[in-house]
Amino acid sequence: MTGVAMGVGLLLGAGKAFSDRFWGRVDRSGECWVWRGVVNRKGRGVMSIAGPTVDGVRARTSMPAHRVAWILSRGRDPGAADVVQSCGNALCCRPKHLALRQ
Ligand SMILES: [Zn+2]
Repeated sequence: MTGVAMGVGLLLGAGKAFSDRFWGRVDRSGECWVWRGVVNRKGRGVMSIAGPTVDGVRARTSMPAHRVAWILSRGRDPGAADVVQSCGNALCCRPKHLALRQ
């Protein structure tokens, strides 16, 4: 199991505080909801999330921001499928602009 796969379960159980923290970094004023947090070298938004606790140490992992948006809005794990922006905006996190690509 990868770090990201482990993170999904924690994300689904993370609750409102995490959700508020995530959406607080998204500009929802326009047609596309633009990620304002950390952006990686490929121009993709990334969200740091808590990983599993091993030997009392809570690991950190990160996940593409739009994937976090999809998981939080749908409430399930997309599994191996990629989450893609149908609008073509690499920083868009608007749930209705997100789709799964198997
Ligand atoms: Zn969009």
